[in-house]
Amino acid sequence: MRIAFINPIFTLVSNNDALKEFIKDSPFMYFYSQFWSGFSNGLLTLAALTPDDIESVYIDESHESIPFNENFDIIAITATTQQIMRAYAIAERFKNSPEPPCIVIGGSHASFMSDEASRHVDVVFIGEAENSWPQFLRDFRNGTWKKKYEAKDFPIVNMTEVPIPRYELLNPDHFNMIWIQSSRGCPINCEFCSATKFFGRKYRIKTEEQVLREISEARKHMKMKQILFSDDNMFCNKDRNEALLGKLKEADISFVAQADITIGENPDFLKVLKDSGCSILFIGFESLDPRNLGLMNSTNWKQEKLSRYSEYIKNITEAGIGVYGAFIVGYDYDTNETFNDLANFVTDNYLSGAQITVLTPLPGTDLRERLRKSNRVLNTGWENYTFFDVNINHPILSRKEIEQGLLKTYKAIYNQEYLNRKNQYYHQVFLRNLEGAKNE
Ligand code: SF4
Repeated sequence: MRIAFINPIFTLVSNNDALKEFIKDSPFMYFYSQFWSGFSNGLLTLAALTPDDIESVYIDESHESIPFNENFDIIAITATTQQIMRAYAIAERFKNSPEPPCIVIGGSHASFMSDEASRHVDVVFIGEAENSWPQFLRDFRNGTWKKKYEAKDFPIVNMTEVPIPRYELLNPDHFNMIWIQSSRGCPINCEFCSATKFFGRKYRIKTEEQVLREISEARKHMKMKQILFSDDNMFCNKDRNEALLGKLKEADISFVAQADITIGENPDFLKVLKDSGCSILFIGFESLDPRNLGLMNSTNWKQEKLSRYSEYIKNITEAGIGVYGAFIVGYDYDTNETFNDLANFVTDNYLSGAQITVLTPLPGTDLRERLRKSNRVLNTGWENYTFFDVNINHPILSRKEIEQGLLKTYKAIYNQEYLNRKNQYYHQVFLRNLEGAKNE
């Protein structure tokens, strides 16, 4: 029996042609493109939960073509919203083959749009699949598989029991970065984000030993590549941070992690974080307008942090850790001035880089519901949900203004002049920290 695990091609930008050209030609955005075109940890984990007598093949369409002429018993596809139309096309091709395999789909889009997905495939996985996948395989062997497998019908996934993804199925030449997931869940529940809806508010973690084993296994196959933690908010659980960072230090790695801005509160913790190998923190600032931040979650969590943004960033960069900021444009109170404000904020605070994306009403989010009620979701295709294309009606800005503003901001941030200034700043920080270490 053979299973093909397929991650459909990822398109960074769909219709915003000027931005597409800029990203393609900009050496400064290389890190950014690499960051988002990683492999699917989820599929490699399902491969690890597949019995040994079944042959598993992993295909990443961003790097290799799909062998439509080969025979498989099961095609297992994962897809985000922007990948979903390609996922359906892949399903169609396999369905029309002489011996059609059973086609299954999972991931965020299919979970929130399961009725739509089930019109294109045989089986839909809703939510986390670690506990439903083995059941499906047993049902498949018995010829009794169902059309839907829902995570809520199974025990909640215990992260300490999640196996090591099968990194050996990857072609190491295709990836420069290794994605590792050490936790799931986020308690904050921002309206535009589906992380809390998909993984829940409760923070679930792998053990430090487990994380270390995963890193070591991944590096066996991928050699000395940059580690990226895919956890949406990695350091929420302060109780485990010390032990985890101690283990990461032992592993002698350089890593990038995603965190919320409160990580910048404590300079002592940042020093430990730096010592553990953290080189860059990816932080969601989202907006510089308190009214926009107020819309993002009912507790005003982000809004309350706004006045401390620069102070916390300085704490992080002074510890020698770069900050990669995530911002959203197209929020209700944005104007043409927003783009200049963002560019100035990024360069004044010496951010290592910035991801500036267009507000996107992803399925499953509270944002989609809010905008739908006021008829502000445009009738665009899912392939347009790239985060760089416009899918909403804005009360002030036209689609063109958003696209042009986005390009202008990227050009203001990703250029040689700012790169030199930023490098000079980090060099000074490095020298100061070196001097400080000598005097300790
Ligand atoms: S955007 Fe970040 S902080 Fe907000 S819910 Fe998603 S993961 Fe949590």
